[in-house]
Amino acid sequence: MVTLENINDFFNEYPIKDINCSHVILRDYEKIFDVFDNSFGYLSYLEFKSNDDSEIFLGSYPLNGAELWKCKNCGKLQFFYTESVGHFPTTLSIDVNFSKTYQSNPFAKSVTLNKEKVSYFIDTFGFDELKNPEKIEGFNGIKIIDKEDKCIFGYSDYQDKITFNIIADRKILRKIFEFEKS
Ligand SMILES: [Zn+2]
Repeated sequence: MVTLENINDFFNEYPIKDINCSHVILRDYEKIFDVFDNSFGYLSYLEFKSNDDSEIFLGSYPLNGAELWKCKNCGKLQFFYTESVGHFPTTLSIDVNFSKTYQSNPFAKSVTLNKEKVSYFIDTFGFDELKNPEKIEGFNGIKIIDKEDKCIFGYSDYQDKITFNIIADRKILRKIFEFEKS
């Protein structure tokens, strides 16, 4: 069974790495793993990578909402995800890059809070940048991150609520999700 923890071993040991598959998506493929982790609430559409691009982050869009599928006929592995921008949802595929390491942390999460809870949020989780939201970088473009750091992008403010995207360890994101619901 593939998990976030063993996915690199699974790819390293997988015998079929370089194959052109002409079989049909969905009909000829079977799902073997869900990257999507619903234990921390809403998915973020934020894309991020590290400075040297040596790793692939499963927590970055679109892989954070993807599934890993295997062709039942030839064994090819592909990530599939649904792009829902526009009128019709489209299923898109991404080949596995066997030369890179897949990182299972950090992940991106969209957070929505009542304004009155912001200072309590900062006391609980840090993220002092929320004290000066006008300095938080906008949502556009692929963000370059240091994977040891947690960070915030794309802040918006509407009526009594604020929304922003956090990149952090999945354990922290689960705690933040509990905070959001409380
Ligand atoms: Zn195939």
